[in-house]
Amino acid sequence: MRVRKKPWADKYIKNHGDYIVTDPKNWLGKWQDRFAKVQPLNVEVGIGKGRFIIETARANPDINYIGIELQTSVIATALRSFMADPLPNVQFVLTDGANLDELFYENEIKKIFLNFSDPWPKKRHAKRRLTSPLFLKTYNHVLDQDGDIEFKTDNRGLFEYTLVTMNNFPMKFDYVSLDLHHSPENESNIETEYEQKFSPKGPIYKLIVHFTAS
Ligand code: SAH
Repeated sequence: MRVRKKPWADKYIKNHGDYIVTDPKNWLGKWQDRFAKVQPLNVEVGIGKGRFIIETARANPDINYIGIELQTSVIATALRSFMADPLPNVQFVLTDGANLDELFYENEIKKIFLNFSDPWPKKRHAKRRLTSPLFLKTYNHVLDQDGDIEFKTDNRGLFEYTLVTMNNFPMKFDYVSLDLHHSPENESNIETEYEQKFSPKGPIYKLIVHFTAS
């Protein structure tokens, strides 16, 4: 997601420190202190403008959500729409999701959401994909034994790459859809901004997957 720099973003983030973290390594082992209640922890990497995490958290008050985003202007936009009606079970984190194992303890996370991650179509950029083996390795470390990953994309190439990479990891697939919006599961689907924009142009792919003990 490309966005113009927003001049108000830095200050806005500074002024809303109760809901956003910019020094995540200092919160290692202490994430639950930031929430109203100690509850299972779900994480979304690459939240964009935040619609998915905000609506998912609203629908699941018994789960705590951490939304990670790399771009200041983007996360500030998410935070601003969140502040219109803040929830006690959401925290935002401005950081690179590449090193989740430096931010969370082993088994600390119940579920990781990856929605419409940047496809990085060139082969030489494959390592940057959020479903590349190095990322999967860190997810495996921080995910609970019964934890899983939910991944949605409109990008067929990224989806195909992800299936093979996960299959080789090894992981097991609990759900695969090649056209989420025309499947029964769509009834409970919460759409992201990208999904709203791109679903009229083609199918949305989804998978739910867990690591097998190795
Ligand atoms: N999930 C949103 C946004 C998708 S665009 C939606 O579906 O609408 C992908 C987003 O992931 C961008 O906002 C980008 O800045 C963010 N992103 C890409 N790589 C990232 C990384 N390594 N860590 C955190 N965020 C990342």
